[in-house]
Amino acid sequence: MKRWQKAIQDNYGTPSIELVSGKGSVVKDANGNTYLDFLAGIATNVLGHAHPAIVKVVSKQISTLGHVSNFYAHPNVLELAEKLQKLTGDKSARTFFCNSGAEANEAAFKLSRKTGKYRVVATQEAFHGRTMGALSLTGQPSKRNPFKPLIKGIKHVPFGDSSAMKRAITKKTAMVIVEPIMGEAGVIVPPSDYLKNLRQYCDEKGALLVFDCVQTGMGRTGDWFGYEYSGIKPDVITLAKGLGGGLPLGAMIALGSAAQLFEAGDHGSTFGGNPVATAAALAVISSIEKEKILAHVDQVGAFLLAELALTPGVSEVRGAGLLIGLTLDKPVAKSVVKKCQELGALINAPGDTTIRLAPALNVSMKQAEIFLAIFKRALKEVTHV
Ligand code: PLP
Repeated sequence: MKRWQKAIQDNYGTPSIELVSGKGSVVKDANGNTYLDFLAGIATNVLGHAHPAIVKVVSKQISTLGHVSNFYAHPNVLELAEKLQKLTGDKSARTFFCNSGAEANEAAFKLSRKTGKYRVVATQEAFHGRTMGALSLTGQPSKRNPFKPLIKGIKHVPFGDSSAMKRAITKKTAMVIVEPIMGEAGVIVPPSDYLKNLRQYCDEKGALLVFDCVQTGMGRTGDWFGYEYSGIKPDVITLAKGLGGGLPLGAMIALGSAAQLFEAGDHGSTFGGNPVATAAALAVISSIEKEKILAHVDQVGAFLLAELALTPGVSEVRGAGLLIGLTLDKPVAKSVVKKCQELGALINAPGDTTIRLAPALNVSMKQAEIFLAIFKRALKEVTHV
């Protein structure tokens, strides 16, 4: 910890454990302690740690050709874009690759300027990243305030409130950006007709509809993209986290006429679409398909939701698939996270009463049962109930 403090900036605080290896949903720290990983790199390691398919293709790729830049084509980047196009079910889909969620949202933000308009409607408490553009879209005052003034022209309305959105979207709106389920805000699920309503309002006013699927994409909710249950399609999908299965990779996928807005020279990224990261993403997609992981996510997610709802000390359970948020009766979430860590499970607390679970999508039912036992014991010990 002393070495960390002497070499690393304090923006994260100092972590209490150092992880050195992992296999599937189990990680080991530098002292040899093992933990069930129910956070998975913050909803990122969708296939768990050291998945053989990722290890194989990444090892092969790095020993063949590690990086080429976007001056040159590479088969992986093309294959991945084609694969993503198939997953969207829309032949008009065109992908821009980058390295993170913030960059994917920056790309969407810039794309919206190419409509000739600049106003944006986003939602309060949403999280879209920490770079200046993405932070301007983010609706969390604690993250925004130290960095004001941010980009102008962005209105934040309450999440899930269709009427507020309807009032805010005008003919001057370039884009509306929402998370299908707000992740960092504590796994907040909107009313079932919300996304459909947004599609209608955007169509009426000629605004781009952007779904930030950085956290809810790549099978996390039991679908490829977190909006699919709504039956509508956005104009832009942003992805990162699970896409690279642990390697840094983001994507901004535009559909329909939005896919034609960027022209040569408008945007770029040196590392975006790197052959190693895209090899990992191809392995992620083919493993999710081959191992029938989406159905598994539904099954384990439903089991966890049902069991957690019956747990004393838990007042609300919400989410979809393996993105699960809990509200506790008492503001002890941070102590519960600490106690779980002592008992051998990693989770996180986005707020004082809120716990978030986002395990690997291939976490086993047995591991889910072991986790529940740890969590229930931790909650009991912390609240003395
Ligand atoms: N968008 C959403 C919905 C996120 O959950 C996150 C990260 O938590 C981001 C964007 C930012 O992603 P990154 O940290 O990769 O920049």
